[in-house]
Amino acid sequence: MKGIFVVGAGPAGMFAARQMALAGYDVFIFNRDIKPGGLVEYGIYPVKEKMKSGLRKQFAQVLAMPNVHYFGNVQMGEDRALKIQDLQAMHPAAIVFACGAQGAKKLGLPGSDAKGVYAAKDFVYAYNQLPPYASMDFSTGKRVAIVGVGNVAIDIARWVLEDAPNRVTESVVVIARRGPLEVKFDEKEIEYVEQHVSRDELSAELERVRERCARCNQDVSAPKLFQEHFRKLANPEYVAVPPRLSFRFLSSPSAILADANGRIARLQVAENDLVLKADGSTSAVANGQHSELEVDTLIFAIGDEHDPKIGLPMGPHGYATDTDAVHPNEPGYQVVDPKTGTAIPGWFVAGWARKASTGLAGIARHDGEVSAARAIEYVKNAPETQTLNEREIVARLESLGLQPVTKEDLSLLGRVEDAIAQERKVPSFKFSKNEEMLQAIEEEQMRV
Ligand SMILES: Cc1cc2nc3c(=O)[nH]c(=O)nc-3n(C[C@H](O)[C@H](O)[C@H](O)COP(=O)(O)OP(=O)(O)OC[C@H]3O[C@@H](n4cnc5c(N)ncnc54)[C@H](O)[C@@H]3O)c2cc1C
Repeated sequence: MKGIFVVGAGPAGMFAARQMALAGYDVFIFNRDIKPGGLVEYGIYPVKEKMKSGLRKQFAQVLAMPNVHYFGNVQMGEDRALKIQDLQAMHPAAIVFACGAQGAKKLGLPGSDAKGVYAAKDFVYAYNQLPPYASMDFSTGKRVAIVGVGNVAIDIARWVLEDAPNRVTESVVVIARRGPLEVKFDEKEIEYVEQHVSRDELSAELERVRERCARCNQDVSAPKLFQEHFRKLANPEYVAVPPRLSFRFLSSPSAILADANGRIARLQVAENDLVLKADGSTSAVANGQHSELEVDTLIFAIGDEHDPKIGLPMGPHGYATDTDAVHPNEPGYQVVDPKTGTAIPGWFVAGWARKASTGLAGIARHDGEVSAARAIEYVKNAPETQTLNEREIVARLESLGLQPVTKEDLSLLGRVEDAIAQERKVPSFKFSKNEEMLQAIEEEQMRV
């Protein structure tokens, strides 16, 4: 029996699994988290419930396919009980790695180990209730700095300005290494927090960087910027509401200074000039000047990178792959040995495991489907193999000391969580500890 393995159950993995199951193959999904969904479940902003529940339903439909098998609570990695070699020893005809981008980009700044300094993904995992992050300290203080100007930075600003329980936020400053015309957030996302931006303060910041941007032919005058990126501010009647949200452009963090308790107290930032490149884009270059900002919390939202501990060979830009046939400068779907440049037969990547931090859930879905098509094409012509069946795989995982959660277990867990939500009269409830989920499954197994 030619079975295909998928590592990771985010949108890329789940839709890859669907495609391969529809082609008639038995598909076995190995997922770090107990629940499927990846960043859809544990990254997308908590109140985007409609989007999350729509995708949850689609994931449930994938799991309901009789030839899709699921093992949650199973983390694969060189430092884990389950390694790539263990998967290989179960004789899959191919493996699609859709494990996302679990490493955080680091700037290597002095003082980075101070308390109150977090990576964005860990922070959003925590507020989305992913174990073990949900039980770790991600406390925020009065003055929060967020580095990065993408949608993730704006999600985090929204959380600390509007939704975090017990928040004491007085101000949030979003720090961008380049100028105001190069912000990466979507119009829809900034609308959730725009009301916290002071028109005078933003105008003063635009004036501060105006001349440096003009050298690259960028007009960052306030009326133009308000029209393009901060629509509410263009309305003469607009009045900002506290807490305060401000922006600091042309600035890169250069050092973190802690107080006597070891918590961040000040952030040193290097001032940048903008330099126009031959292709018309710009780069930020430090101009030798520095300033200091008083902050007690710092969150880096500068993107994720591939985790080398997964055990896939690493290339210069993440997991080593061929090049994309359609976009020759981008990573392709086939994993290669970087030393020889030759393909590793039957190993494919999909979603953020192919291109870290790229695109929305719909893009990851499409990427999973393209990767699945490549895997199917490979498996059709691959030699016959005797992939272990579900029972044998569970036994193998248990022999490694793991406690896999199957799709039947997930249904039981869903039932318990729904019952708790009903009892508490809340739209949804989810456990934030693996032990609680495993216990709920066990109790429900005994009950039915
Ligand atoms: C903060 C944030 C907010 C976002 N908001 C939106 C939004 O509003 N709308 C939108 O469309 N998109 C949003 N996105 C983007 C979207 O979530 C991603 O495009 C998508 O989830 C990427 O899918 P993926 O399957 O490649 O990876 P992921 O979703 O990261 O899934 C990876 C899966 O691999 C598993 N895994 C990881 N390591 C291992 C391992 N070692 N062994 C086994 N399994 C492993 C994980 O448990 C997870 O299930 C957001 C992303 C972030 C970070």
